[in-house]
Amino acid sequence: MALTGIGILKMLPKTNCGECDVPTCLAFAMKVAAGQMDIGACPYVSEEVKNEVGEASAPPIRSIVLGSGDNTFKMGGETCLYRHEKRFEHPTGIAVLVRTDMDEGDIAGRLQRFRDLRYDRVGLLLKADLIAIKDASGDEEAFVSLVGRVLNECPDAVLILISGLADILAAGAKVCKDHKPLLYCTTKENAESVADVASDAGCPLTIRGETLGETAEISEQLQKAGIKDLVLDTGARTVRAAFEDQVAIRRASIKHKNKVLGFPTITFPCEMTGDPLLETIIASMLIAKYAGIMVLSDLQGDTLSPLLLERLNIFTDPQRPMVVEEDIYPINGPDENSPVLITCNFSLTYFIVSGEVEGSKVPSWLLIKDTEGLSVLTAWAAGKFSADIIGMFINKSGITDKVKHRCLIIPGYLASIKGELEEELPDWNIRIGPREASHLPPFLKDWQAEV
Ligand code: SF4
Repeated sequence: MALTGIGILKMLPKTNCGECDVPTCLAFAMKVAAGQMDIGACPYVSEEVKNEVGEASAPPIRSIVLGSGDNTFKMGGETCLYRHEKRFEHPTGIAVLVRTDMDEGDIAGRLQRFRDLRYDRVGLLLKADLIAIKDASGDEEAFVSLVGRVLNECPDAVLILISGLADILAAGAKVCKDHKPLLYCTTKENAESVADVASDAGCPLTIRGETLGETAEISEQLQKAGIKDLVLDTGARTVRAAFEDQVAIRRASIKHKNKVLGFPTITFPCEMTGDPLLETIIASMLIAKYAGIMVLSDLQGDTLSPLLLERLNIFTDPQRPMVVEEDIYPINGPDENSPVLITCNFSLTYFIVSGEVEGSKVPSWLLIKDTEGLSVLTAWAAGKFSADIIGMFINKSGITDKVKHRCLIIPGYLASIKGELEEELPDWNIRIGPREASHLPPFLKDWQAEV
């Protein structure tokens, strides 16, 4: 059962020394209970307490880390059934499948697309995360060679090694022993031998049952044998069964604290249909409900990009707005005569406005005011983007050292505060910009023509 803050406080030294970067032991205990801090941050607790609290405060779905160094993929660690209750922790991993029996062109194309299909959006790099390498014919040499090739050609890929044969999995794991791949899979038949491979290699292991019930049985058996890092595949290969199993596993672990099913999942849209478009639709469902990893048959820009965007939307923290830092952002190499624009620090606003300014090719200064991630109108309504606040920000920002003119372009939605702003900034000429960012390029070109 989860420990309360008071329960955790009883185990702390109660000296309020502050070495954990929290002023009091009580505040620290509350943060640990809320999952915001690790008990290990207090240097004075014993290993016994660390284990007790760690176990009691562990998320109902075990956290698993694959890969190494800068190229890791985290899954599990989920604590809620619905995103609005808190947040979803780790985005569904997108994997592409390569098999030892594929033509050279098919393999090369998939690896190439894994490297090339990357999208920069709101300051984040969106891309596929994993490559699943499948032994299709029991040929150890071909499997080992393909694992080596993937490591070489796609060094930032996290790997899933797929074979039903323990020896082949062991040989593949040896090639990438520093990369901590996910091993797939152990079944009722090979549970012992594959579990030994996973233990020796120190890699997480996938269980594949024929049904949800059988998956739970194997999980129980392996946990009794001391294997802790497990990933579940219930064997479902129809849309309905996959959906039902994903929801059942999430419910059982979150609502009923079922330890046997408290692990992240792997799913195979690539084995549910031969139609690439249908596969994408299935994948989109599995992002929402609740796949840890999904393995796709191929990556294509027109289907990968919407999946990445869906994933980005679902796995943002609904309690924390996406923000950029308050600062002066130079765009297109501005100088002392370049226009000065101001907007809020909601990251979507920043990226849309900066994108339009960049597209206009007019050198400009973009001032970003911290509005706690609120958009322009919301921030104004909340009193975080009012004339006095903007006036103070302009005076302190240092923009007057960068330009010799005194003309400030404000968002069109703030037209009503123009008069107040002129009072706050008597030396400045306040210009009302367009309401829509897409109208900025002609607006800036006109401004450029005027000066
Ligand atoms: Fe209390 Fe430990 Fe934090 Fe010191 S470091 S305030 S003893 S919890």
